[in-house]
Amino acid sequence: MAKQYKVPFELNNPELLHYESFVDNKWISSKKGGRFEVVDPGTDIAWASCPANTVDDVPHAVEVAHAAFNQYRKVVPRQRAQWLLKWDALIRENKDDIAKIITYETGKPIAESYGEIDYSTGFTWWFAGEAERIFGTVSTPALPGRRIFTIKQPIGVAVALVPWNFPMAMILRKAAAALAAGCTMIVKPSPETPLTILSLVHLAQKAGFPAGVLNVLTTDLENTPALSEALCKHPLVKKVTFTGSTRVGKIIAGHCATGLKKVTLELGGNCPLVVFDDANLDQAMDHLMALKWRHAGQACITANRIYVQAGVYEKFANMLKERTSKIVTGHGAAEGTTMGPVTTPRSLDKATSQVQDARKLGAKVILGGNQIKDKGGYFFEPTILTDMTEKMLISREESFAPIAALYKFDTEEEATKWANDTSMGLASYVFSKNIDILWRMYENLEAGMIGLNTGNSSAAESPFGGIKESGYGKESGKDVAVNEYLITKTGTLSLE
Ligand code: NAD
Repeated sequence: MAKQYKVPFELNNPELLHYESFVDNKWISSKKGGRFEVVDPGTDIAWASCPANTVDDVPHAVEVAHAAFNQYRKVVPRQRAQWLLKWDALIRENKDDIAKIITYETGKPIAESYGEIDYSTGFTWWFAGEAERIFGTVSTPALPGRRIFTIKQPIGVAVALVPWNFPMAMILRKAAAALAAGCTMIVKPSPETPLTILSLVHLAQKAGFPAGVLNVLTTDLENTPALSEALCKHPLVKKVTFTGSTRVGKIIAGHCATGLKKVTLELGGNCPLVVFDDANLDQAMDHLMALKWRHAGQACITANRIYVQAGVYEKFANMLKERTSKIVTGHGAAEGTTMGPVTTPRSLDKATSQVQDARKLGAKVILGGNQIKDKGGYFFEPTILTDMTEKMLISREESFAPIAALYKFDTEEEATKWANDTSMGLASYVFSKNIDILWRMYENLEAGMIGLNTGNSSAAESPFGGIKESGYGKESGKDVAVNEYLITKTGTLSLE
């Protein structure tokens, strides 16, 4: 008999919970695969299961998405926009329920799940507008009697491979752009967080999107590499958009290279945050607190390395310790919790070894530093390390855990050099009251997004994306994001 699971919360709209993959507007299980469990990171208890799709399930999903594309591409942009707006409205209507699903999959505090929903619906709203603003050009060339023009057309079936840390935002940032452009999409969520996207496609269907336009293939860790490869290499897939680690991003880029697929890679961060002596320290601290401890440090744009100028270093470290000591770690759904668990037990091991490595090489642990073992789930203490140096592991790799690592610097040149001393280039942050410093840092920091006196560097209106080994391609923002799902076709007309 199939194992029974108990959903640990109540929903106003129980229809939102689905435990099957979604293809052609039908809920389906895997042809040959089994099932995998979805675990609450706050308790380590499995509360649902989903199909572990295999490579055998790929052809049907792609053929469905391709057949749907041939119809959907002809739908006028205003209709696509209206479906997106209806979807957006339904998501907002169901946000109390969706917030619970996000919290019980990721572990994040419920207030942060609401925050993720607000941020994500920014994308459905924004791309509904973008759908009608896809324009071509007409020009008069040097040769007489000719006109040259371009049109933009949807590229075809797109595949989205996404991480677990923001299971709604990472998908809507891709899906809303693809659907606005006239593409159809197959989403492969992370094995840790399949249920959020399944609730969203339930609402997409209610919003009126035709069958096959948005599909989901869930799978487990074991089948993920082969299934992702099969999706990337399928000849009818024309676009792949991946968010996740740089390590896996390189594998995906390799799969796409064989078919010369258009690809977007949103990869790892290792982001620096630089605080100068003259900064408004309260302002810097407010932003750091939000940026560092959101989702227990598991955001790609979190501050991984915090550089503080020598004149305020001690003071800033003490302020951070005082504010961080007030964090209440607990289950994301429990009242009063301000920081939840990490999402996977793998993250606990990595955090522990990074703290040990830093300690061994001379860092001081001024707060936390350990796993919390008596709470049932995957908890790690909010941790502050000082006296960090570039030799330590955290300097080179994201911690993706609640660890704030502080480095002392003397000059602007030093701060710039160290901040850029990484293979990554996603986001950077600078705090200073001196506009000359801010502008120079904005120009000199090697990252795709720079926050100047702010830790908020992402919004539907602004292009999101990294440089260096943080990937390429942009999501969100005017024109650029929709362009990732379009081809430009040139026409030349002779008037002679
Ligand atoms: P990950 O790379 O392990 O997984 C991402 C996706 O790839 C998941 O769906 C996973 O199931 C799949 N995957 C894993 N191994 C695979 C393989 N061998 N072949 C094909 N697919 C595979 O990343 P994660 O641990 O889920 O997420 C954390 C990482 O994501 C961090 O590095 C973080 O910085 C990055 N991230 C980046 C952004 C961004 O916008 N730049 C946003 C969020 C997270």
